[in-house]
Amino acid sequence: MIRLLLADPDTDRATDTLATLQQAMSDPLRGQIADSADGCLSALNDTFLADCVVIDGGFFGGAGRCLLDDLFARDRFLPVIVLVDDYDGEHAIAAMRRGARDVLRRGADLGPRLGMAVADAISRAETDRRDDDRREMLQSFADVLVHDLRAPLRSVRGGVDMLMEDLEAPQQQTHAEVLGFIRDGAEHMDRLIVDLHRHCAVTSAAQPRAEVDLSAVVDKLRMALSADIARRGAEVSVVSPLPVIRGDETQLSQLLQNLIANGLKFNEAAVPLVQLSCEDRGDLWRISITDNGIGIDSAYTEEIFQPLRRLHSDSEYEGTGLGLSICTRIARRHGGRLSCVSEQGQGTTFHLDLPKTRADVIGLAVGGDRAASAG
Ligand code: ADP
Repeated sequence: MIRLLLADPDTDRATDTLATLQQAMSDPLRGQIADSADGCLSALNDTFLADCVVIDGGFFGGAGRCLLDDLFARDRFLPVIVLVDDYDGEHAIAAMRRGARDVLRRGADLGPRLGMAVADAISRAETDRRDDDRREMLQSFADVLVHDLRAPLRSVRGGVDMLMEDLEAPQQQTHAEVLGFIRDGAEHMDRLIVDLHRHCAVTSAAQPRAEVDLSAVVDKLRMALSADIARRGAEVSVVSPLPVIRGDETQLSQLLQNLIANGLKFNEAAVPLVQLSCEDRGDLWRISITDNGIGIDSAYTEEIFQPLRRLHSDSEYEGTGLGLSICTRIARRHGGRLSCVSEQGQGTTFHLDLPKTRADVIGLAVGGDRAASAG
């Protein structure tokens, strides 16, 4: 059974429309007519649970209040179809932009055409509602992760520290290993929570699109990573100018930070090197991040992008295995892709391909080698 509310000031015409629609539809139809915008809204508020609303074009456009806006203020997924006498492309596009699922011209075959449009609008609205539910669920899951699960872990770590302080020296020695396991476990779980939250945030975060100068982003990252760079006696350098692209600065910075930090982490060289460069490849910029680290067996250069996939244990190299999958999602959200070329023991190169945008006409950002060295 499909419940359909038809808002049309001409009630005779509305009765005919419902009759032709019923003939064309295989599902039984329960129709109700409202002859005014207010009548339509009060029917929805008080007496009628509509699966779909069909409104006369007169209720949309012109000066003053628009019935479409009032309907979506009640329920933003409500499937609404607009019926018009004369099809006007601009008017139709305006209605669709405002959220109408379809705009149909009255006339021959209205029954079957409207029947198909109603079924399609209801099914698309169901899909949209389901997607929205999932998004909301993911958001609350992410919020719980960050706000509620990290607090008990802080208690575990605090408790372990207090125990260590309270124990007498001989007992401390006996229990140090076990207490260390507990502390490491709590810390690993905390990192997992933070990374899982980042993973969820890539899809849920609104994405401001601004011009992002990747050279400036890398400069800031070298500052942020300076303690790590100094501790390792490492060098992070930009060997060819990086472009200005349109995107989300926070996400692009997170992506580059993950790749640079990995280049330093999975690296046993006396002087760990991470080099960034950019190549103009026609429609896209290829940004390469190359290190002289331990490398990756070429059989695994695709697998490593899977969430939680790690080629090393936490005791060898600390991590959660979520960094590269976050990077991949950020690259995709920018219309790009991430790939890896490596051989065991031969260092690793990650290629970040990003589509060129209007900003590229502005050209390349600052040039030259701007190596940051720990000295
Ligand atoms: P994490 O760094 O937390 O382990 P990632 O998703 O960033 O997780 O990386 C997944 C795995 O890919 C790592 O555990 C490591 O085995 C491998 N890997 C990533 N980057 C490099 C690199 N630059 N050199 C060697 N191995 C790497």
